[in-house]
Amino acid sequence: MAGEPQADCLFCKIVAGEIPATIVRETETTVAFRDISPQAPTHVLVIPRVHYPDGAALAAAEPLVAADLLREAGEVAAQEKVDTTGYRIVFNTGPGAGQTVFHAHAHVLGGRDLQRLV
Ligand code: 5GP
Ligand code: ZN
Repeated sequence: MAGEPQADCLFCKIVAGEIPATIVRETETTVAFRDISPQAPTHVLVIPRVHYPDGAALAAAEPLVAADLLREAGEVAAQEKVDTTGYRIVFNTGPGAGQTVFHAHAHVLGGRDLQRLV
């Protein structure tokens, strides 16, 4: 069924507590944890508990959870105190854009000067 945990998915395993992660926030629908290879002083991943391959697929299937994810990204930024200095929310989508884990996730990056991308 759509959204069900996938046996071979790293982030489903983090949601299930089968792989450890440094969790910074949790809600009924989302988990936020530090990226294992941080690209900025604040680099937190916010993921839905349900499994969808990317952010757009999540939004199409479960828009309320997608909204939770985006709101949580903002809460993480506030908790990490990068909301005042500025932060970036990134959804790499597809291998050509650098996506390596095919469970929807938002990167929350901040704490350093972030060059304008677009
Ligand atoms: P993507 O490249 O798919 O947009 O992002 C996947 C992110 O997951 C990468 O930034 C990578 O560093 C992070 N990552 C990969 N494996 C692990 C892990 O086992 N634990 C944590 N906390 N992050 C991971
Ligand atoms: Zn998954």
